[in-house]
Amino acid sequence: MRQMLFLAAGVLFLAFFGVGKVCAATDKANPVFRSKVGTFEVYALSERQSEGSLSILIDASSRDIEKYVSSGSYPTAVNTFLVRTKDGAILIDAGLGEKLEGNLKSIGLSPDDIGTILITHSHGDHIGGLVKNGSPAFPKAKVYISKAEFSWSPQVRRSLSAYAGCVSQFDPGNLADSGLEIMEGIRAIQAYGHTPGHTIFLIESAGERLLVWGDLTHAMAIQMPRPDISVTYDSDPVRAAAIRKEVLKFVTDGKVPVAGMHVAYPAIGNIERDLEVAEGYKFIPSAE
Ligand SMILES: [Zn+2]
Repeated sequence: MRQMLFLAAGVLFLAFFGVGKVCAATDKANPVFRSKVGTFEVYALSERQSEGSLSILIDASSRDIEKYVSSGSYPTAVNTFLVRTKDGAILIDAGLGEKLEGNLKSIGLSPDDIGTILITHSHGDHIGGLVKNGSPAFPKAKVYISKAEFSWSPQVRRSLSAYAGCVSQFDPGNLADSGLEIMEGIRAIQAYGHTPGHTIFLIESAGERLLVWGDLTHAMAIQMPRPDISVTYDSDPVRAAAIRKEVLKFVTDGKVPVAGMHVAYPAIGNIERDLEVAEGYKFIPSAE
């Protein structure tokens, strides 16, 4: 395990982890989907279900638009994920911070129950929920973020100043090496491109896995059959497309279920090759 850098000498918190499948409760606007990974429970907590704009798609041909998003939009969402293990509750991203507390409450958790927060990247729909009225929204949490993300984003440094002493920066590993184990059952993998330090997390328990892929995609309807299409939110569209293709190959070859922050409900599912499209894929949502 590579070296981890603790910002300011702080108390070392231990926290932990977990994916599979089960129920669904649901309020249409911010549904919760429950799944399992080995002995871990994983919840997709949605703050928003909506239709995305075609204007963010880079270099989508009119033929592709006609074929995959002919309605003029596509389903999208804003999700965070909560992993519950025998040792604690881990939040992956903090979302917009609008519905998160209510969503946690709906699964029996309060902000004080969150011992660990893993950050994929520093955009507002992923870190908006970290701070409330200038104080940590999750007072007992230790926050993990890649060094590359922490160093480029003034916004995340500002938000994380509320967590001083409880922030751990790390260098995620490569996909080919299955990333870096940052705690039992959780590996951090670099997926730079969407942002300079965008990190995805591979959850493993009892022989099962789930890859929480952050913002690897925004428009599943067209980015699965055409993963080379990036979006204007990607800071490096070429690099974002390259890692997207690499990850899609990895999860297809390894039959690893995936979870995405902008994948419409249920937000979790499996990827298969789309045999009708060269280098294309299909997303099969998990069943309720
Ligand atoms: Zn996002």
